Amino acid sequence: MKENYLQNKRIKYDFKNVHYTHIVENIECQDSLIERHIVKVNLPNNRNYEFFLNNYPFSPPIVYITNKFNSRELLSYCPSKFPRHIWYKIFEDRKECICCNNKMCKANWSPAMNAMDIISEYDNFCNLVRDHINKRLLMEISPKLPDDIVGVIKEYLF
Ligand SMILES: [Zn+2]
Repeated sequence: MKENYLQNKRIKYDFKNVHYTHIVENIECQDSLIERHIVKVNLPNNRNYEFFLNNYPFSPPIVYITNKFNSRELLSYCPSKFPRHIWYKIFEDRKECICCNNKMCKANWSPAMNAMDIISEYDNFCNLVRDHINKRLLMEISPKLPDDIVGVIKEYLF
């Protein structure tokens, strides 16, 4: 099938810099078999991702993350997954909702994008959340510590 040929070609190209396995499953759907393509990516920092591809690169993949505690979750920007006040602080700063406007949204996705771009965008968001958490913690502890120690912590965190 022509569609799968293109999809396979893009998988080889888009994941060429990471360690990945490509799994094709046949699932029965209304008396016919359909192919489901899953790409599993292992990054050196022990993070694992699963990309469920359907009509890739014309449709964005659905991505699952397996964290270091071995729990598997859908990659999403749902506010309930993050500290609430920090999620809303970022929402105010950006003046738009990240869960309604990110690279996985059909309106933003284009065949020129790479599935791994979704991971970079997500990592950037998580780093931003972490920075906000650190800033808040620092604000709480710095009045209790000498200035030079606060300076060292700041240098380490940011
Ligand atoms: Zn939203």
